[in-house]
Amino acid sequence: MVVLLVPLAGSADVWRHAFAATMPELDLRIWPEVGDAAEITVAVLGAPPAGALRKLPHLRLIVSLTAGTDALLRDPDLPNVPIVRAGDPAGDAMINETVLLHVLRHHRYMPDYLRAQQRCEWIRMPIKSARERKVGVMGLGIVGLAAAKMLASVGFEVAGWVRRPRPNSDIKLFSGRERLDTFLVRSEILVNLLPLTPETRGIVCAETLKTLPVGAALINLGRGDHVVEPDLLAALDSGHLAAATLDVFPIEPLPSDSPLWRHSKITVMPHAARRLDPEGLATRACRIIRDFQAEIPLSQLVDRERGY
Ligand code: NDP
Repeated sequence: MVVLLVPLAGSADVWRHAFAATMPELDLRIWPEVGDAAEITVAVLGAPPAGALRKLPHLRLIVSLTAGTDALLRDPDLPNVPIVRAGDPAGDAMINETVLLHVLRHHRYMPDYLRAQQRCEWIRMPIKSARERKVGVMGLGIVGLAAAKMLASVGFEVAGWVRRPRPNSDIKLFSGRERLDTFLVRSEILVNLLPLTPETRGIVCAETLKTLPVGAALINLGRGDHVVEPDLLAALDSGHLAAATLDVFPIEPLPSDSPLWRHSKITVMPHAARRLDPEGLATRACRIIRDFQAEIPLSQLVDRERGY
């Protein structure tokens, strides 16, 4: 089996060793050293380099190194082959850390205290326990569910918003558009961990923001295009929304003339929610490739119709 790897973060050597540790027999080609492209049957990548997929006429499987497959699904050359995500099905401990960091910052009003300190102003914001704070997580997938459970274990009153109802859930659930408002009304801190799909693009807009309680905070870890930027700025400027932390943007790096950089109520993070783990991803990618070879049904398959 000939596999093309387009590495994300970390050196090619790190990835080569990580794959060799599990499947030494693999003929691994590392982009851009493709060799005879007609031999390649599996591609392991995040967002494909422009035109790369067009050059792989015998591709049979794509393994996604990233949780979000929106860029891959937008590729005009995407062949009709299974796409499987190689993320850890138990969630991502680093994303959990990031979610906890920013939820605690907003829960304990750190942005307000930092602004007050700049003015040498002694202010005291309400001091609440986690039990008294309602957090809403949009998207309880592999990453979102683990983050929601972690927040619940700290004591926060957590609810999640998903597309389809689930029979059993440890987390209070709201599903579908018709339950979105009920979910938002209670979410004092809103964490977005949705995939970017035609249904979720622009979901954080004037309508949704105004449904949040006054003084709510937004943490966007999904994709930049989930947020309608002028609506976010208006909600912050009106005081309805107290603060926002943004890790992802429609254009990355965020252009220096973006008003988001300079807004006093916005924390800009440079898409730094986690570090990818080449060893873990390579091990799981190898397992997927072996299952595919053995015709074992694949889990974590991306549904193109749904868009995630
Ligand atoms: P999954 O595909 O495992 O889960 C997606 C979740 O979103 C599911 O719970 C799904 O609902 C829900 N969902 C999808 N569409 C809708 C909709 N229209 N209405 C309501 N709920 C919806 O995704 P992951 O948890 O693995 O990752 C989620 C996203 O987080 C990624 O796509 C990526 O954009 C982002 N991400 C960002 C990172 C960063 O570095 N900032 C790192 C990792 C992920 P249901 O359960 O009903 O299907």
